[in-house]
Amino acid sequence: MSEASIYQQLRSHLAYLRLSAAAEALPGELERAARDELGHTAFLERLLALEVTATDQRRRATLERFASLPSPWRLADFDFDAQPSVDRHLVNELATLGFLEDATNVLFIGPPGVGKTMLAVALARCSIEAGYRTYYTTAADLAARCHRAALEGRWATTMRFFANPRLLVIDEVGYLPLASEAAAALFQVITTRYLKSSTILTTNLGIASWGKIFDDPMVAAAMLDRLLHRSVVFHIDGESYRMRAHQARSNELRQGVVATSAK
Ligand code: ADP
Ligand code: MG
Repeated sequence: MSEASIYQQLRSHLAYLRLSAAAEALPGELERAARDELGHTAFLERLLALEVTATDQRRRATLERFASLPSPWRLADFDFDAQPSVDRHLVNELATLGFLEDATNVLFIGPPGVGKTMLAVALARCSIEAGYRTYYTTAADLAARCHRAALEGRWATTMRFFANPRLLVIDEVGYLPLASEAAAALFQVITTRYLKSSTILTTNLGIASWGKIFDDPMVAAAMLDRLLHRSVVFHIDGESYRMRAHQARSNELRQGVVATSAK
């Protein structure tokens, strides 16, 4: 076989195996190998490394799209000095994702605006970047989705969907009271994931008030039991970060007004 037809064969092997990054890089890499007098092994390693990188990027992008994070927050964006009630060492420890190994849950409990969603999303991002299937939902969306699923006869499929991610974030539990169907959905999701995979949950309700969002206090107790059995709980207090920024702005404005009126 001539050199040219071997080259064509090689191209078609790469196409058949869907190694498109390697196929695209092939002419350049062949040239480079000849120029730098690379051996066969080194050449092949370089070519396949390009394909591995491309595959990794695709996989990461797919995980990222699937996760549906509401914002691009990262832990580096979180101002720990502004929120001393959050143990930064514990958060950094969680960021190493050891908690996913033994299906530990994480609860962020605190009033609005203290950074619960931000921390949950930032940890979810760490998990995506480590290659884990991750999914973000609010409790209200989860309830709505399960409601539709029940109507359309897709309950089991939907439960499998929520059981599947290695890390599930359920944001804003407790903002809205959950009707009994929604409470049952949340309960079943927590139960299916119990001891198998981690859930991060944020709530504005102290654990003692959980009975209030569920019609049935027994369901609330059973759910808490499973959530807390293996868990890390953050009680975040302090003022709302949103209000802080807002107050700083109003103070500036006020000072501006005072300064002008003093002239
Ligand atoms: P929560 O979910 O507790 O209501 P969020 O996480 O949505 O609060 O935070 C509210 C807003 O304040 C967001 O824009 C968030 O980025 C910002 N924020 C809150 N806490 C911090 C913090 N410690 N450092 C930086 N930004 C913060
Ligand atoms: Mg929030």
